[in-house]
Amino acid sequence: MTLPMSKISECDVLSCSYNIDNKCHTIAITVGDPSCPMCDTFFESEGKGGDMDVLGGIGACRTSDCRFNKSLECRAGDIHVGVHSGHADCKTYTPR
Ligand code: SF4
Ligand code: SF4
Repeated sequence: MTLPMSKISECDVLSCSYNIDNKCHTIAITVGDPSCPMCDTFFESEGKGGDMDVLGGIGACRTSDCRFNKSLECRAGDIHVGVHSGHADCKTYTPR
């Protein structure tokens, strides 16, 4: 059975084109590499993008040492994204 996609309940990275009022409005982001749970979909541009009717989800996560990661997919249910060391990171990341 296909499990539901985890959602981004809040994102504090207001400079991102997909962020409006602390919500992510792209359909799905990609998170991380093995060493850092960054939001790989972060993008800055002149205007805003995404779909206002959509609350973003996690399409894939490559941070396999997170306890919520199963087979390179996020099973947290919902996550929080925020700024860490000058870039957008998954704040729900929890090492195993
Ligand atoms: S989760 Fe990523 S793509 Fe979505 S608004 Fe935040 S930084 Fe941008
Ligand atoms: S909670 Fe863990 S598995 Fe889910 S997106 Fe964040 S780092 Fe990846």
